[in-house]
Amino acid sequence: MAKSKAAKARPRDGRVSDMVRVPRGPVDLSAFDTTATPGFDGDKEAGKVALADLGPRIADLQEKLFAEGATGGRRSLLLVLQGMDTSGKGGTVRHVLGQVDPQGVAHTAFKVPTAEEKAHDFLWRFRRALPGPGMLGVFDRSYFEDVLVVRVHDLVPKQTWSRRYATINRFEESLVSKGTVVVKCFLHISRQESRDRLLARLDDPTKQWKFKPGDIDEREYWGAYEQAYADALEKCNTDSAPWHVIPSDRKWYRNWAITNLLVEHLEAMALDWPKPDFDVEEQRRRLLATE
Ligand code: AMP
Ligand code: MG
Repeated sequence: MAKSKAAKARPRDGRVSDMVRVPRGPVDLSAFDTTATPGFDGDKEAGKVALADLGPRIADLQEKLFAEGATGGRRSLLLVLQGMDTSGKGGTVRHVLGQVDPQGVAHTAFKVPTAEEKAHDFLWRFRRALPGPGMLGVFDRSYFEDVLVVRVHDLVPKQTWSRRYATINRFEESLVSKGTVVVKCFLHISRQESRDRLLARLDDPTKQWKFKPGDIDEREYWGAYEQAYADALEKCNTDSAPWHVIPSDRKWYRNWAITNLLVEHLEAMALDWPKPDFDVEEQRRRLLATE
């Protein structure tokens, strides 16, 4: 099939980040294949093995970032996860972030804003949840909801939400300038796959808790969400914080691709183990002189 040929033709030694990065200009989501596996030409079993192989690498890099933060460094990484219901934001957290030390992960899932959150500007709750030095932050939904659900459901006037793209760009730019690497992922699933996953939630008593009757009503707005996503992906696709579209119909590919994105961005930070600010030999002698 053309699809698998396309995946095979890609440079397997290239950066996955470059392969899934959204090109500049208008975005047409229907042009992205939700079942594609850019950068990977194996099957599910091979994908799971490849993910396990990355585990020690991401864990080592994350520990170096944490160590840097514990010794005066200011840098951090923020993973922004966006996607329709059932796109796998939670699964990504479990399978990708589950490979690193939980002490170094600052995870926040953003829901409908509370009364307190609504009383502030839309960025307020996100500023409070930013990763501190050395932390790997994860936003499961983010300030992009303020140009997505808010736009689709007319929760504020167009005049208000349409100004937010520029505000978000300035916000992300300021994060990056202060040493936070921002990695934005849109988990892209097809409408059919979403239907299958909602059905699976209904069919499985261990998954029914994730289902809300409103999830079916939201499907009516699929097209409106696609348009809102396309605009967010176009207008907030900056050099400091570019967007990535992760084909997410295959969960194993989604996990592998996002792990690669994190590994690649952490590697680009040129992290190293902090050098001690004491004389190791002197401390060894002192210690050995004790009982
Ligand atoms: P879930 O991710 O399934 O737990 O659902 C969280 C819900 O919060 C989703 O239905 C989002 O659309 C909603 N949500 C997140 N941010 C906002 C926001 N700024 N305004 C309104 N609804 C939001
Ligand atoms: Mg939900």
